[in-house]
Amino acid sequence: MTKRFRRVLSTKRMNDLSRSSSPAPYSDFHDYHEPIPPPPSYNSIRNIPLVPTAPTDARAIRFRSMLHTLANMPMNWENPGLLDEALRSVPLERIYAEADEESQINQAEAASLGHQEPKLGYQDCLIKALMKWFRGSFFSWVNNPYCATCGSPTQGVGMGAPSDEEKAHGANSVEIYKCSLAQCGHFERFPRYNDAFVLMTTRRGRVGEWTNCFGMLCRAMGLRVRWIWNSEDHVWVEIFSTHQKRWVHVDPCEGRFDQPRLYTQGWGRKLSYCIAFSRDGATDVTRRYVRNFKKHGGDRIRCTEPTLLYVIEEIRNLRRRDLAKPEKFRLKGEDMKEDKELAQNIAIDLALELCQSLPGAVLVPETRSKAEEAGQAAQNDPTRVRGPNGATSRPNPHHRPEDQR
Ligand SMILES: [Zn+2]
Repeated sequence: MTKRFRRVLSTKRMNDLSRSSSPAPYSDFHDYHEPIPPPPSYNSIRNIPLVPTAPTDARAIRFRSMLHTLANMPMNWENPGLLDEALRSVPLERIYAEADEESQINQAEAASLGHQEPKLGYQDCLIKALMKWFRGSFFSWVNNPYCATCGSPTQGVGMGAPSDEEKAHGANSVEIYKCSLAQCGHFERFPRYNDAFVLMTTRRGRVGEWTNCFGMLCRAMGLRVRWIWNSEDHVWVEIFSTHQKRWVHVDPCEGRFDQPRLYTQGWGRKLSYCIAFSRDGATDVTRRYVRNFKKHGGDRIRCTEPTLLYVIEEIRNLRRRDLAKPEKFRLKGEDMKEDKELAQNIAIDLALELCQSLPGAVLVPETRSKAEEAGQAAQNDPTRVRGPNGATSRPNPHHRPEDQR
Protein backbone atom coordinates (compact mmCIF):
# COMPACT_ATOMS: atom_id res chain seq x y z
CA MET A 1 0.00 0.00 0.00
CA THR A 2 2.71 2.45 1.06
CA LYS A 3 4.80 1.48 -1.94
CA ARG A 4 1.86 2.36 -4.13
CA PHE A 5 1.49 5.77 -2.43
CA ARG A 6 5.18 6.45 -2.97
CA ARG A 7 4.94 5.44 -6.61
CA VAL A 8 1.89 7.64 -7.14
CA LEU A 9 3.60 10.63 -5.50
CA SER A 10 6.72 10.08 -7.51
CA THR A 11 4.81 9.88 -10.79
CA LYS A 12 2.81 12.96 -9.89
CA ARG A 13 6.05 14.85 -9.26
CA MET A 14 7.54 13.81 -12.55
CA ASN A 15 4.37 14.94 -14.30
CA ASP A 16 4.47 18.24 -12.43
CA LEU A 17 8.04 18.82 -13.45
CA SER A 18 7.36 18.22 -17.09
CA ARG A 19 4.24 20.39 -17.00
CA SER A 20 5.76 23.08 -19.15
CA SER A 21 6.55 20.73 -22.01
CA SER A 22 3.48 18.49 -21.89
CA PRO A 23 0.29 19.66 -23.55
CA ALA A 24 -2.01 21.10 -20.93
CA PRO A 25 -5.41 19.44 -20.54
CA TYR A 26 -7.12 22.69 -21.42
CA SER A 27 -4.73 23.86 -24.10
CA ASP A 28 -7.56 24.88 -26.40
CA PHE A 29 -9.06 27.06 -23.69
CA HIS A 30 -8.35 30.29 -25.53
CA ASP A 31 -10.17 29.26 -28.68
CA TYR A 32 -13.47 29.47 -26.85
CA HIS A 33 -12.85 32.51 -24.76
CA GLU A 34 -12.42 36.21 -25.02
CA PRO A 35 -8.86 37.51 -25.21
CA ILE A 36 -7.14 37.40 -21.82
CA PRO A 37 -7.97 40.54 -19.90
CA PRO A 38 -5.04 42.32 -18.30
CA PRO A 39 -4.60 41.64 -14.57
CA PRO A 40 -6.27 44.16 -12.30
CA SER A 41 -4.10 46.99 -11.15
CA TYR A 42 -2.52 46.14 -7.82
CA ASN A 43 -4.20 47.62 -4.81
CA SER A 44 -1.81 48.53 -2.07
CA ILE A 45 -2.72 48.69 1.56
CA ARG A 46 -4.08 52.15 0.99
CA ASN A 47 -6.07 50.98 -2.03
CA ILE A 48 -4.31 53.25 -4.47
CA PRO A 49 -3.87 51.61 -7.88
CA LEU A 50 -0.18 51.13 -8.52
CA VAL A 51 1.94 51.08 -11.61
CA PRO A 52 5.00 48.83 -11.28
CA THR A 53 8.10 50.98 -11.16
CA ALA A 54 11.69 49.78 -11.45
CA PRO A 55 13.90 50.50 -8.44
CA THR A 56 16.16 53.51 -8.78
CA ASP A 57 17.67 54.32 -5.39
CA ALA A 58 20.39 52.19 -3.78
CA ARG A 59 18.20 50.93 -0.96
CA ALA A 60 15.46 49.70 -3.28
CA ILE A 61 18.04 48.08 -5.58
CA ARG A 62 19.48 46.23 -2.57
CA PHE A 63 15.99 45.09 -1.51
CA ARG A 64 15.26 43.87 -5.03
CA SER A 65 18.43 41.84 -5.08
CA MET A 66 17.63 40.39 -1.64
CA LEU A 67 14.13 39.35 -2.76
CA HIS A 68 15.57 37.65 -5.85
CA THR A 69 17.98 35.68 -3.64
CA LEU A 70 15.18 34.71 -1.21
CA ALA A 71 13.06 33.62 -4.17
CA ASN A 72 15.57 30.86 -4.89
CA MET A 73 15.01 29.18 -1.53
CA PRO A 74 11.99 27.01 -2.39
CA MET A 75 13.52 26.19 -5.79
CA ASN A 76 16.02 24.01 -3.92
CA TRP A 77 13.16 21.65 -3.09
CA GLU A 78 12.39 20.91 -6.74
CA ASN A 79 14.49 17.79 -7.09
CA PRO A 80 12.32 14.71 -7.73
CA GLY A 81 15.04 12.18 -6.89
CA LEU A 82 15.85 13.80 -3.57
CA LEU A 83 12.16 14.28 -2.77
CA ASP A 84 11.60 10.54 -3.29
CA GLU A 85 14.56 9.87 -1.04
CA ALA A 86 13.25 12.26 1.64
CA LEU A 87 9.85 10.58 1.58
CA ARG A 88 11.44 7.32 2.66
CA SER A 89 11.97 8.78 6.13
CA VAL A 90 8.29 9.64 6.50
CA PRO A 91 6.06 7.02 8.18
CA LEU A 92 3.35 7.37 5.56
CA GLU A 93 1.05 4.63 6.91
CA ARG A 94 0.86 6.34 10.30
CA ILE A 95 0.33 9.80 8.81
CA TYR A 96 -2.33 8.66 6.31
CA ALA A 97 -4.16 6.79 9.08
CA GLU A 98 -4.15 9.81 11.39
CA ALA A 99 -5.31 12.09 8.60
CA ASP A 100 -8.05 9.64 7.72
CA GLU A 101 -9.28 9.58 11.31
CA GLU A 102 -9.35 13.36 11.69
CA SER A 103 -10.98 13.76 8.32
CA GLN A 104 -13.76 11.34 9.31
CA ILE A 105 -14.30 13.22 12.59
CA ASN A 106 -14.57 16.44 10.60
CA GLN A 107 -17.10 14.90 8.23
CA ALA A 108 -19.17 13.57 11.13
CA GLU A 109 -19.09 16.98 12.81
CA ALA A 110 -20.19 18.70 9.63
CA ALA A 111 -23.00 16.18 9.17
CA SER A 112 -24.23 16.63 12.75
CA LEU A 113 -24.28 20.41 12.30
CA GLY A 114 -26.06 20.11 8.99
CA HIS A 115 -23.13 21.63 7.06
CA GLN A 116 -22.64 20.53 3.50
CA GLU A 117 -18.86 20.57 3.70
CA PRO A 118 -16.54 19.66 6.57
CA LYS A 119 -14.29 22.47 7.77
CA LEU A 120 -11.14 20.56 6.85
CA GLY A 121 -10.58 18.29 3.90
CA TYR A 122 -8.50 15.13 3.89
CA GLN A 123 -5.46 17.00 2.56
CA ASP A 124 -5.73 19.59 5.37
CA CYS A 125 -5.75 16.73 7.89
CA LEU A 126 -2.76 15.19 6.11
CA ILE A 127 -0.74 18.40 6.59
CA LYS A 128 -1.67 18.50 10.28
CA ALA A 129 -0.67 14.86 10.77
CA LEU A 130 2.63 15.42 8.94
CA MET A 131 3.34 18.44 11.12
CA LYS A 132 2.52 16.52 14.30
CA TRP A 133 4.98 13.76 13.38
CA PHE A 134 7.62 16.27 12.24
CA ARG A 135 7.47 18.19 15.52
CA GLY A 136 7.00 15.27 17.86
CA SER A 137 9.24 12.58 16.44
CA PHE A 138 11.48 13.86 13.71
CA PHE A 139 13.01 17.32 14.05
CA SER A 140 14.47 18.80 17.21
CA TRP A 141 14.97 22.36 18.35
CA VAL A 142 18.50 23.53 19.17
CA ASN A 143 19.45 26.60 21.11
CA ASN A 144 22.86 25.57 22.46
CA PRO A 145 23.84 22.11 21.23
CA TYR A 146 25.01 19.61 23.85
CA CYS A 147 28.70 18.62 23.93
CA ALA A 148 29.16 15.63 21.62
CA THR A 149 32.02 14.33 23.80
CA CYS A 150 30.49 14.32 27.29
CA GLY A 151 26.90 15.43 26.83
CA SER A 152 27.22 18.55 29.04
CA PRO A 153 25.55 21.86 28.18
CA THR A 154 27.61 24.35 26.17
CA GLN A 155 28.04 28.09 25.94
CA GLY A 156 28.24 30.09 22.74
CA VAL A 157 31.65 31.60 22.02
CA GLY A 158 31.05 33.11 18.58
CA MET A 159 31.00 32.28 14.91
CA GLY A 160 33.48 30.25 12.89
CA ALA A 161 34.19 29.69 9.21
CA PRO A 162 32.54 26.58 7.75
CA SER A 163 34.88 23.69 6.97
CA ASP A 164 35.07 22.39 3.39
CA GLU A 165 32.70 19.57 4.27
CA GLU A 166 30.23 21.90 5.99
CA LYS A 167 30.41 24.23 2.99
CA ALA A 168 29.80 21.34 0.63
CA HIS A 169 26.60 20.59 2.56
CA GLY A 170 25.40 24.15 2.20
CA ALA A 171 26.37 25.69 5.56
CA ASN A 172 26.99 29.42 5.23
CA SER A 173 27.94 29.93 8.84
CA VAL A 174 28.95 27.89 11.89
CA GLU A 175 28.18 28.73 15.49
CA ILE A 176 30.86 27.64 17.99
CA TYR A 177 29.99 26.45 21.51
CA LYS A 178 32.36 25.52 24.34
CA CYS A 179 31.61 22.62 26.70
CA SER A 180 30.74 23.87 30.20
CA LEU A 181 32.66 21.00 31.83
CA ALA A 182 36.16 22.42 32.53
CA GLN A 183 38.03 19.10 32.17
CA CYS A 184 36.34 18.43 28.80
CA GLY A 185 36.79 21.80 27.10
CA HIS A 186 35.45 20.45 23.80
CA PHE A 187 34.32 22.95 21.18
CA GLU A 188 31.03 21.99 19.58
CA ARG A 189 30.24 23.24 16.08
CA PHE A 190 26.70 24.02 14.99
CA PRO A 191 26.69 24.57 11.22
CA ARG A 192 23.57 26.36 9.97
CA TYR A 193 22.60 24.26 6.96
CA ASN A 194 20.43 25.67 4.22
CA ASP A 195 19.97 22.47 2.29
CA ALA A 196 16.67 20.78 3.17
CA PHE A 197 18.00 17.40 2.07
CA VAL A 198 21.04 17.71 4.38
CA LEU A 199 18.61 18.68 7.16
CA MET A 200 16.91 15.30 6.68
CA THR A 201 20.10 13.83 8.17
CA THR A 202 20.94 16.44 10.83
CA ARG A 203 17.25 16.79 11.86
CA ARG A 204 17.83 19.78 14.10
CA GLY A 205 17.93 23.54 14.04
CA ARG A 206 15.89 26.64 14.64
CA VAL A 207 13.14 28.40 12.72
CA GLY A 208 15.06 28.46 9.41
CA GLU A 209 15.96 24.78 9.43
CA TRP A 210 12.54 23.70 10.68
CA THR A 211 10.65 25.57 8.00
CA ASN A 212 13.02 24.61 5.22
CA CYS A 213 12.88 20.90 5.98
CA PHE A 214 9.14 20.83 6.65
CA GLY A 215 8.39 22.76 3.45
CA MET A 216 10.46 20.31 1.44
CA LEU A 217 8.64 17.34 3.02
CA CYS A 218 5.31 18.90 2.06
CA ARG A 219 6.60 19.09 -1.52
CA ALA A 220 7.66 15.46 -1.23
CA MET A 221 4.06 14.65 -0.26
CA GLY A 222 2.97 16.26 -3.53
CA LEU A 223 1.52 19.46 -2.00
CA ARG A 224 1.79 22.99 -3.39
CA VAL A 225 3.99 24.87 -0.96
CA ARG A 226 5.16 28.44 -0.47
CA TRP A 227 8.01 29.57 1.73
CA ILE A 228 7.07 32.77 3.57
CA TRP A 229 9.77 35.24 4.41
CA ASN A 230 8.98 37.87 7.02
CA SER A 231 11.10 40.98 7.42
CA GLU A 232 10.86 40.73 11.23
CA ASP A 233 12.96 37.57 11.17
CA HIS A 234 10.50 34.71 11.06
CA VAL A 235 9.70 32.19 8.34
CA TRP A 236 6.85 29.73 7.84
CA VAL A 237 5.04 28.08 4.95
CA GLU A 238 1.72 28.27 3.19
CA ILE A 239 0.11 25.24 1.61
CA PHE A 240 -2.60 25.32 -1.00
CA SER A 241 -5.65 23.61 0.44
CA THR A 242 -7.55 21.92 -2.37
CA HIS A 243 -10.57 21.60 -0.05
CA GLN A 244 -10.65 25.26 1.00
CA LYS A 245 -9.35 26.47 -2.37
CA ARG A 246 -6.96 28.94 -0.82
CA TRP A 247 -3.45 29.25 0.58
CA VAL A 248 -3.33 28.24 4.23
CA HIS A 249 -0.84 29.42 6.85
CA VAL A 250 1.22 26.58 8.40
CA ASP A 251 3.91 27.25 11.02
CA PRO A 252 5.80 24.03 11.83
CA CYS A 253 7.84 25.67 14.62
CA GLU A 254 4.70 26.70 16.46
CA GLY A 255 2.59 23.73 15.35
CA ARG A 256 -0.07 26.09 14.00
CA PHE A 257 -2.40 25.43 11.10
CA ASP A 258 -4.37 28.28 9.57
CA GLN A 259 -3.81 30.87 12.29
CA PRO A 260 -2.44 33.82 10.35
CA ARG A 261 -3.22 36.27 13.17
CA LEU A 262 -0.79 34.46 15.47
CA TYR A 263 2.06 36.94 14.99
CA THR A 264 0.10 40.16 15.31
CA GLN A 265 -2.88 39.55 17.59
CA GLY A 266 -1.22 36.57 19.28
CA TRP A 267 2.33 37.78 19.80
CA GLY A 268 1.63 41.48 19.55
CA ARG A 269 4.23 41.95 16.81
CA LYS A 270 4.28 44.51 14.08
CA LEU A 271 5.01 43.06 10.65
CA SER A 272 6.25 45.01 7.65
CA TYR A 273 6.63 42.48 4.85
CA CYS A 274 5.48 38.88 4.47
CA ILE A 275 6.44 37.65 1.02
CA ALA A 276 5.53 34.22 -0.33
CA PHE A 277 7.98 32.48 -2.64
CA SER A 278 7.35 29.31 -4.60
CA ARG A 279 8.22 27.74 -7.89
CA ASP A 280 5.33 29.76 -9.35
CA GLY A 281 6.78 33.12 -8.35
CA ALA A 282 6.26 35.54 -5.50
CA THR A 283 3.29 37.22 -3.79
CA ASP A 284 3.06 39.92 -1.16
CA VAL A 285 0.87 38.16 1.42
CA THR A 286 1.32 40.70 4.22
CA ARG A 287 -2.43 41.37 4.27
CA ARG A 288 -3.07 37.74 5.29
CA TYR A 289 -1.05 38.27 8.47
CA VAL A 290 -1.61 41.95 9.18
CA ARG A 291 -5.31 42.73 9.17
CA ASN A 292 -5.06 46.10 10.82
CA PHE A 293 -2.11 48.07 9.48
CA LYS A 294 -2.59 50.90 11.92
CA LYS A 295 -2.15 48.53 14.86
CA HIS A 296 0.11 45.82 13.52
CA GLY A 297 1.74 47.12 10.37
CA GLY A 298 5.49 47.76 10.48
CA ASP A 299 7.15 50.45 8.36
CA ARG A 300 7.31 49.50 4.69
CA ILE A 301 10.26 51.64 3.76
CA ARG A 302 12.64 49.28 1.98
CA CYS A 303 11.24 50.44 -1.32
CA THR A 304 8.12 52.13 -2.65
CA GLU A 305 4.95 50.04 -3.14
CA PRO A 306 5.14 50.37 -6.96
CA THR A 307 8.73 49.07 -6.79
CA LEU A 308 7.75 46.09 -4.66
CA LEU A 309 5.06 45.30 -7.22
CA TYR A 310 7.66 45.57 -9.98
CA VAL A 311 10.00 43.13 -8.25
CA ILE A 312 7.19 40.66 -7.53
CA GLU A 313 6.14 40.73 -11.18
CA GLU A 314 9.77 40.30 -12.18
CA ILE A 315 10.06 37.14 -10.05
CA ARG A 316 6.72 35.81 -11.35
CA ASN A 317 7.79 36.36 -14.95
CA LEU A 318 11.08 34.64 -14.31
CA ARG A 319 9.45 31.57 -12.77
CA ARG A 320 6.64 31.34 -15.33
CA ARG A 321 8.77 32.14 -18.37
CA ASP A 322 8.79 28.59 -19.72
CA LEU A 323 5.24 27.63 -18.82
CA ALA A 324 2.59 26.97 -21.44
CA LYS A 325 0.14 29.84 -22.00
CA PRO A 326 -2.89 28.16 -20.35
CA GLU A 327 -0.84 27.49 -17.23
CA LYS A 328 0.33 31.13 -17.12
CA PHE A 329 -3.30 32.16 -17.54
CA ARG A 330 -4.40 29.88 -14.71
CA LEU A 331 -1.73 31.26 -12.35
CA LYS A 332 -2.67 34.82 -13.24
CA GLY A 333 -6.28 33.97 -12.35
CA GLU A 334 -5.09 32.60 -9.03
CA ASP A 335 -3.15 35.80 -8.35
CA MET A 336 -6.25 37.88 -9.00
CA LYS A 337 -8.43 35.69 -6.79
CA GLU A 338 -5.93 35.86 -3.97
CA ASP A 339 -5.63 39.62 -4.27
CA LYS A 340 -9.39 39.82 -3.80
CA GLU A 341 -9.24 37.48 -0.80
CA LEU A 342 -6.51 39.58 0.84
CA ALA A 343 -8.46 42.79 0.27
CA GLN A 344 -11.49 41.13 1.87
CA ASN A 345 -9.41 40.18 4.91
CA ILE A 346 -8.84 43.85 5.61
CA ALA A 347 -12.51 44.67 5.10
CA ILE A 348 -13.59 41.90 7.48
CA ASP A 349 -11.25 43.15 10.17
CA LEU A 350 -12.49 46.70 9.78
CA ALA A 351 -16.04 45.42 10.19
CA LEU A 352 -15.04 43.48 13.31
CA GLU A 353 -13.41 46.55 14.76
CA LEU A 354 -16.43 48.68 13.97
CA CYS A 355 -18.71 46.20 15.75
CA GLN A 356 -16.41 46.10 18.73
CA SER A 357 -16.68 49.84 19.08
CA LEU A 358 -20.48 49.75 19.15
CA PRO A 359 -22.01 50.28 22.60
CA GLY A 360 -22.53 46.97 24.38
CA ALA A 361 -20.85 44.88 21.71
CA VAL A 362 -18.14 42.89 23.45
CA LEU A 363 -15.86 40.89 21.20
CA VAL A 364 -15.21 37.86 23.38
CA PRO A 365 -11.78 36.11 23.14
CA GLU A 366 -13.43 33.11 21.53
CA THR A 367 -14.52 35.39 18.74
CA ARG A 368 -10.94 36.27 17.98
CA SER A 369 -9.89 32.67 17.69
CA LYS A 370 -12.92 32.07 15.52
CA ALA A 371 -12.22 35.16 13.50
CA GLU A 372 -10.54 33.18 10.73
CA GLU A 373 -13.57 30.99 10.42
CA ALA A 374 -15.79 34.01 10.42
CA GLY A 375 -13.54 35.57 7.82
CA GLN A 376 -13.95 32.62 5.52
CA ALA A 377 -17.66 32.22 6.10
CA ALA A 378 -18.20 35.92 5.67
CA GLN A 379 -16.34 36.30 2.39
CA ASN A 380 -19.53 37.35 0.71
CA ASP A 381 -20.82 39.02 3.81
CA PRO A 382 -18.00 41.08 5.28
CA THR A 383 -20.20 42.71 7.91
CA ARG A 384 -21.07 39.44 9.63
CA VAL A 385 -19.56 39.13 13.10
CA ARG A 386 -20.26 37.29 16.29
CA GLY A 387 -22.41 39.28 18.68
CA PRO A 388 -22.08 39.48 22.45
CA ASN A 389 -24.18 36.35 22.98
CA GLY A 390 -22.11 34.35 20.56
CA ALA A 391 -24.76 34.72 17.91
CA THR A 392 -23.71 35.70 14.45
CA SER A 393 -25.09 39.13 13.72
CA ARG A 394 -24.64 42.24 11.68
CA PRO A 395 -23.53 45.52 13.12
CA ASN A 396 -26.66 47.51 13.76
CA PRO A 397 -26.43 51.27 13.75
CA HIS A 398 -29.56 51.46 15.93
CA HIS A 399 -28.21 48.97 18.35
CA ARG A 400 -28.81 49.72 22.04
CA PRO A 401 -27.06 48.15 25.05
CA GLU A 402 -30.31 46.66 26.40
CA ASP A 403 -30.68 44.65 23.18
CA GLN A 404 -27.72 42.63 24.30
CA ARG A 405 -29.32 40.82 27.23
ZN1 LIG B 1 32.13 18.12 27.00
